[in-house]
Amino acid sequence: QSKAKLQDAEKVNTTFEDVAGLEGAKTELQEIVGFLKNPNQFDSLGGEIPKGLLMVGPPGTGKTLLARAVAGEARVPFFTITGSDFMEMFVGVGAKRVRDMFNKAKEKAPSIIFIDEIDSIGRKRGAGLGGGHDEREQTLNQLLAELDGFEPNEGVVVMAATNRPDILDKALLRPGRFDRQITVHLPTQEHREEILEIHAKNKKLSDDIDLGEIARSTPGFSGADLQNLLNEAALIAARYKRKAVEQQDIDQARDKVMMGLKREGIRLS
Ligand code: ATP
Repeated sequence: QSKAKLQDAEKVNTTFEDVAGLEGAKTELQEIVGFLKNPNQFDSLGGEIPKGLLMVGPPGTGKTLLARAVAGEARVPFFTITGSDFMEMFVGVGAKRVRDMFNKAKEKAPSIIFIDEIDSIGRKRGAGLGGGHDEREQTLNQLLAELDGFEPNEGVVVMAATNRPDILDKALLRPGRFDRQITVHLPTQEHREEILEIHAKNKKLSDDIDLGEIARSTPGFSGADLQNLLNEAALIAARYKRKAVEQQDIDQARDKVMMGLKREGIRLS
């Protein structure tokens, strides 16, 4: 039940500095930040602003982080929903929730709506499964109606994330809806090092730890995996009552994260 409740807008402090790599995505999103900071000026210059941006990429690669950074950079309220939250709802509740969120976002405009896991509401319609399916379809129809029902100059930008763009209902991708795609990739070795630097800031690491070396030994890791690795290492170090995280803690944590990835059958061969 708590999941069905409309969350208030969040004030976020994330900036592009918190995001390592993804330069192409950041450059594209700068334009959106500029718009959100000053929607009226943008409008008078005749710039065309997308209503909906679809961020596409593997899990844990920073899609949510980027959306939050846009809100933080532009200092606008951030409304968020997760597609899978709708799965447990009664018929009609999801659609109402979508409608309420757009109304709130328009009231507080300029603002951002972020829809994580959009594939769980945005899958192709008419698969004829019945049951919870009706609810999903109603929610998707409401989302389409809301996207069509405001003008870009109202100052609401809708960002959505998925790692399954192939299963999305094509109606979502039409002009005036999610017609702009931003692709995010797994980090390169260089960017893995930058991500580790960001997440090492609030950790106590022994002086001999070489983040470049960790970056070299973690091909296929996402940003989320790297964050996880440092957290695990800190927990292991605490268990041994160490004063700082040591290389052996990092090694143990890396093995643990790798095991998890292998079990899920993703990325690492
Ligand atoms: P999902 O598809 O699982 O929702 P996502 O792409 O939205 O994943 P995020 O939630 O943005 O991934 O990333 C998870 C965490 O991983 C972030 O909170 C951040 O701490 C870290 N992270 C991921 N990518 C980066 C990056 N490029 N720079 C810094 N941190 C990152």
